[in-house]
Amino acid sequence: MTIWTDDPVRDAERYFADQEEELEALPECDMCGHPIQSVYLYEVFGQCICEDCMNGCRWDVTEYMEDSL
Ligand SMILES: [Zn+2]
Repeated sequence: MTIWTDDPVRDAERYFADQEEELEALPECDMCGHPIQSVYLYEVFGQCICEDCMNGCRWDVTEYMEDSL
């Protein structure tokens, strides 16, 4: 929690320090290593994966269809 004082410089420093602490408390994505800031994450085989990485794993099935079809 940020406590506002009459010193705007100190307030700003404290505000950013608080935000950094919040980021550090967030779970990290096991694929990209970034803190997961969305409301939910994906857990796949014990790994935490953010939505962006999960979307990157999504492919059209036709890409994997055999050519002979
Ligand atoms: Zn990720």
